[in-house]
Amino acid sequence: MVYKKISVGFSAIVIIVIALAFGSQKQLNDIADDMDSLYKHPFTVSNAAKNINFHLVSMHRHMKDVVLSQNQEQMEWAVSRVAVHEQAALADFDIIFERFLGEKSQIKETYQSFVDWQPIRNEVIALMREGKQQQASAITVGKGASHVAKLNLEVEALVEFAYNKAQQFHSSAQQSKEHALFINAGFSTLAVIMVILFSIYVVRSLRAANKDRIRRNHLIDQQIMMATLDKSGKVIDASNALCRFLGCMKSDLIGKPSHFFDNSAQSEQLTKDILRVVSTGMEWTGEIQHSTSEHQTFWAHSSVLPNFDESYRIVNYTNILNDVTNKKLSVVDKLTALPNRRSYDDLLNKELRLAKRHDYNITLAIIDIDFFKKYNDHYGHPQGDIALQRVATKLMECLKRPSDYVFRIGGEEFALIFSRATIAESQLFLDKLRTSIEFLHIKHSESLISDYLTISIGGYVLMPPQMCDPQALYVEADKALYQAKKQRNCAVVTGTTNH
Ligand code: GH3
Ligand code: MG
Ligand code: MG
Repeated sequence: MVYKKISVGFSAIVIIVIALAFGSQKQLNDIADDMDSLYKHPFTVSNAAKNINFHLVSMHRHMKDVVLSQNQEQMEWAVSRVAVHEQAALADFDIIFERFLGEKSQIKETYQSFVDWQPIRNEVIALMREGKQQQASAITVGKGASHVAKLNLEVEALVEFAYNKAQQFHSSAQQSKEHALFINAGFSTLAVIMVILFSIYVVRSLRAANKDRIRRNHLIDQQIMMATLDKSGKVIDASNALCRFLGCMKSDLIGKPSHFFDNSAQSEQLTKDILRVVSTGMEWTGEIQHSTSEHQTFWAHSSVLPNFDESYRIVNYTNILNDVTNKKLSVVDKLTALPNRRSYDDLLNKELRLAKRHDYNITLAIIDIDFFKKYNDHYGHPQGDIALQRVATKLMECLKRPSDYVFRIGGEEFALIFSRATIAESQLFLDKLRTSIEFLHIKHSESLISDYLTISIGGYVLMPPQMCDPQALYVEADKALYQAKKQRNCAVVTGTTNH
């Protein structure tokens, strides 16, 4: 909308400036035309008419010389002078014929009068040649003089007409000038006003757009978890929302490797995987896990998008994250990041249905830490939390197949579900698991059976065609755990006996 208005404003100004240029050009042309006409017509006609008058007077004076001449030679000289001025006057008449802007009949009349003078002059010259000076003198002073006087008046009329015409052209030029000044001043003022109004509008629009941009940037900064990362994954910029999520300052992040903000055990591998995808120009989406120094775990849905330059070369990456911790917590345990009791219920139900349909074994194992109350009492609850996390991570690492699952189903109780294993295989696997927890070497000075933290495991292998509900299966596994607890740091596995 703003761009449309700016385009219209610019176009209007350009049109006004073009109109101003064309208008000025036209006015200048009009003035030049008037001046040209003034020079070509009235000025030339007036000059020619004045010349004719001069020639008339000269011819009349030389005719007097003819009459007063003392000898033949003087007379012939005067006659020749008359002829010279007559030729000059005729040439001026030609100019007037060509340039006169008034009624042509008026010139014809004057010209005729001029021509009509010739027989009078010829009569005088003839009389002089005959030696009749008195008669010749009478004609020159009488008829000749009055004819010249009449001619003078007629030529004066032509001068007068030319003068008036010149006045007319002059006032027209004057008018054109005033007109041009008026129009130019009008258009110039309009252009200046338009430019001022338009500039105000553009500046206001830019200010509003800038304000809007700042507001949006602030909003994005506060609400959207976003970061710009260089090609190696180091942080170039990060939004406040992201800093809040990570529980750190912006300065703590800038220039440091981001690992795409995942700091779980899989962080290194995840970073490699993401870089492998995005370095080919594709987008990576997935989930990252971030634990704070207070052992709080958050999850975010993450999109990593490559940014390209004009040559479609990757410049850097934009990482947009979306906090999904709340959603995640409905299925995941916050302390250990393992699936929780609810996930366990869902999954066990599904696995039992699948096992029934496809006829395979299901093993449920319940794991309980030995003397954990004593551990807490001795080392403190926070240390107990760390121990729980370490046990959880180890259990997770021990899972081999995609169909092996581990859950935190209670305080220091975990559940393991896996399929297609016999009692013996389950026993072997769970014994390994138990040993690997002991080998974590988490010091437990209060334990009555080891120097380190240990676990007890009760497992039950459910084999087709025997099937039962999840609750019954749990009870069977718990019975086995009860047996294991008699000894502790031990795994007891039972199962359907008819197989
Ligand atoms: P046993 O060998 O018979 O299992 O003895 P126990 O002390 O481990 O058994 P009990 O059930 O009596 O104690 C479980 C303890 O686990 C009690 C509680 O303090 C601790 N616990 C449960 N949840 C948490 C937790 O989230 N963090 C910590 N630090 N301790 C927990
Ligand atoms: Mg317990
Ligand atoms: Mg216990």
